Amino acid sequence: MNLIKYAILFIIITLPFYMIHNFNTHRLVQRERLKNQYERVISSAIEDGTYALKTYSKRSFDEDRGKRIGIETEEVIEAFLKTYHYGFKAFGDAAKHQFNQYIVAIVIIGYDGYYLYGTKQVADHTGLVSYRPVLSEKKPYIYEDTEFAMKMTLDDFVEVVDMRSWEVEKGNFASIAHKPSGMNESNFEQIRKRTIITSVEAGLRDAVISHNQWANQQGVLYEFIVPVADNDPWSRTLDDIGLMVCIQGAPLGYGAFLDFFSFHQNNVLKIQPVNGYEDMADGSFYYCDHRCTHEQTDNLIQVFASKEAAASEGFWPCHYLK
Ligand SMILES: [Zn+2]
Repeated sequence: MNLIKYAILFIIITLPFYMIHNFNTHRLVQRERLKNQYERVISSAIEDGTYALKTYSKRSFDEDRGKRIGIETEEVIEAFLKTYHYGFKAFGDAAKHQFNQYIVAIVIIGYDGYYLYGTKQVADHTGLVSYRPVLSEKKPYIYEDTEFAMKMTLDDFVEVVDMRSWEVEKGNFASIAHKPSGMNESNFEQIRKRTIITSVEAGLRDAVISHNQWANQQGVLYEFIVPVADNDPWSRTLDDIGLMVCIQGAPLGYGAFLDFFSFHQNNVLKIQPVNGYEDMADGSFYYCDHRCTHEQTDNLIQVFASKEAAASEGFWPCHYLK
């Protein structure tokens, strides 16, 4: 009899603890599930964005510039947003607005500068100022000292401006005669990377400040924070064009919020370019890739970053590739 009493007493004492523990576990599981769901949607939006980035980036060469990669930035952002909204089943304007407010920044890392999509204060034609998501112009990667300003790229191509004479020099770093002091071939790579990272971080910082101002105005209590820190993994792999996404503040329940940051890099600089030709005999457009060994005597029209890019402009695979 005594034993049963003790057993009942034990249950009475431990039951609340057990229930609290169970409740905590349950809400953690729920939070994790919601977080995974958000991340899955964002990841597929990033996938579609980077696919657009690869497909629509045109690689071209000219004597002066050497190499240039043009990015259809609008297409990239559009591809991202389409999948992002679709994933959250946000079809109406109000629902889209709801999910847009979590997008702190989308950065497109380009060959000679980056583009930033984020909330900005804009005035309309009547002069009325409001916050809206805006895609920026290209922001170049610039390294400066008191005499020179050097525009960096994702490889060793640079453009240097002598700020006293305004003379401009372009070319591979090794071929540049007048360089910022203290800069040489052994520390160029390090300075180049640091310059790109610092530029992008400055852009992200501005984006977060502006996003917070807008959020305050909206009565959003979440405080958005700058996502990157020194020696983040993304900075170590920075050698090709890519898409960086920072999404924060979506409620996960029980006082927790989503904090998502990702950098996805394309292999555009590394891959072999695809050449688009006009066939003089039949007037059609064809593309060749690096495997082509036949003589390419026709007019070179354009150099593409990928076969998809060439095909989307109406070029056919050449007879060798078919
Ligand atoms: Zn060919």
